[in-house]
Amino acid sequence: MKDTFKHKGLRQQLVNVIKAKGITDKDVLKAIGKVPRHLFMDSGFLDHAYQDKPFPIVADQTISQPYTVAFQTELLQIKKGDKVLEIGTGSGYQAAILCELGAKVYSIERQLELFKKANIFLPKLGYKPKKLIFGDGYKGLKDEAPFDSIIVTAGAPFVPKALMSQLKIGGRLVIPVGNDVQIMTLFIRKDIKEFEKHELGEFRFVPLLEDKN
Ligand code: SAH
Repeated sequence: MKDTFKHKGLRQQLVNVIKAKGITDKDVLKAIGKVPRHLFMDSGFLDHAYQDKPFPIVADQTISQPYTVAFQTELLQIKKGDKVLEIGTGSGYQAAILCELGAKVYSIERQLELFKKANIFLPKLGYKPKKLIFGDGYKGLKDEAPFDSIIVTAGAPFVPKALMSQLKIGGRLVIPVGNDVQIMTLFIRKDIKEFEKHELGEFRFVPLLEDKN
């Protein structure tokens, strides 16, 4: 597990690319500059780790494009100590970015292999999410609710009610909604029943799958 000067240099170039694409939040850019993305990928893809592209990981899943990670994270407006729920742990890269920002991270993954891998790998890199959960993200995490923000990192055919209800008043839900193509959607909870909705452009994610059981 090496993070060399070469990797750091490539990461800085990646930060510049993402900045040029419109990400302005300094803390988010700093986090992208810090988290060693190459270590979250299979060795065959190491050379590609600092291109602004998604890549395959195990179990037919992908590590999201860095710009997409930055875009979603920026929308969450994380403050240190915020309680954040992620749906779709995957490689754990997004969770590491949230940890860098000082969030208390809870993350749910439905693929056992990925869940197990992230459980071992994140602490190895010094990232300590509050809880990684093997389960169904459609249900959210009622026992730990409410959350300051919730981020969904898979394409949701619809907005799960449980996630809306587990947001604090003032809390933010960032979720790509759609089947083949998704619209990045931000919900801000104004009151118990009142949500402000913003649609922020098209993205492509692997699907948020319904429970196998
Ligand atoms: N955040 C990840 C990106 C993962 S891709 C990263 O930084 O690498 C989306 C992930 O969502 C996949 O790992 C997939 O297995 C997971 N997923 C899909 N449907 C899910 C569900 N219903 N509950 C929890 N995780 C789900």
